[in-house]
Amino acid sequence: MKRVLYSSLGAALLAAALGLPAQAQQQQRPQIETKKVDGTENVYVFRNGNHQAMFIVTKDGVIATDPVAYGRPTGGQQYLDEIKKVTDKPVKFLIYSHHHFDHIAGGKAFKDAGARIIAHKNATARLKVLNDPNTPLPDESIGNKKVIKLGGTTLELLFLGLNHSDSTLVMRLPKEKIIFVVDTIPVGSFPGRGMIDFYPLETEAFMQKVIALDWERLIPGHPGQPNGRLGTKEDAKTVLTIYQDASAEMKKLGQDGKCWDQAEKEFKLEKYASMPGYANNLQFVARRYCGLWGRGT
Ligand SMILES: [Zn+2]
Repeated sequence: MKRVLYSSLGAALLAAALGLPAQAQQQQRPQIETKKVDGTENVYVFRNGNHQAMFIVTKDGVIATDPVAYGRPTGGQQYLDEIKKVTDKPVKFLIYSHHHFDHIAGGKAFKDAGARIIAHKNATARLKVLNDPNTPLPDESIGNKKVIKLGGTTLELLFLGLNHSDSTLVMRLPKEKIIFVVDTIPVGSFPGRGMIDFYPLETEAFMQKVIALDWERLIPGHPGQPNGRLGTKEDAKTVLTIYQDASAEMKKLGQDGKCWDQAEKEFKLEKYASMPGYANNLQFVARRYCGLWGRGT
């Protein structure tokens, strides 16, 4: 595992030395990579392209999350193959972080291998309507909280209200003080396409609840910037401030009657201009907050 880490780091350094832009540097990474989280005995991050998921290995089986195989027909099986490289225990659970296909398509291989699929009830309701051929329906739908105990590991599944979606589960490992939260809290980068069905006001309350939980490290659903790092509470506080600043900025423009076109042109958050993603993603943030302050939704 270490060898993979060093070689991908080496490729990134080489790309940086050659003056390649960040995107080209990312392309130097292998498509699929699995890393154990430092300081843990059994918590892993599986990455496929720019998506990633957490899995936990216990003596009685594996708890996996998000297949991350949208547009990747073999992605689910490749994820299972990566798990098999570190354990011969069966995957007992597959938890969907939320209902978006880019994170949860590809679960069939897990289901065929006997895993029980768990999701929030709002995810299940949406998935039933759309019946996506690549996304098996959950076997179990939960409400606000479920605790999974397997082979000495405790994993909490928490629904803390609306945020990036209406079905997001915050997954917390109390002993390891690690949380896995997908999309709502980008680590080290500016929010972007994830704003499309985002709940602006409710997300601020959600973020306060997440920050109040007991944890030290956050595994995001997309690699943290830079170098795939994990997040901290400081990162979560920064993201909350971005949302609050974006909302305050667009509130003026929206209430002045400038949404959509004029407001979207004038909207700037210069304070964050050096963050990765700012230039490309500002438009998505602007549009969502125009929806709030210029339309009322
Ligand atoms: Zn999402």
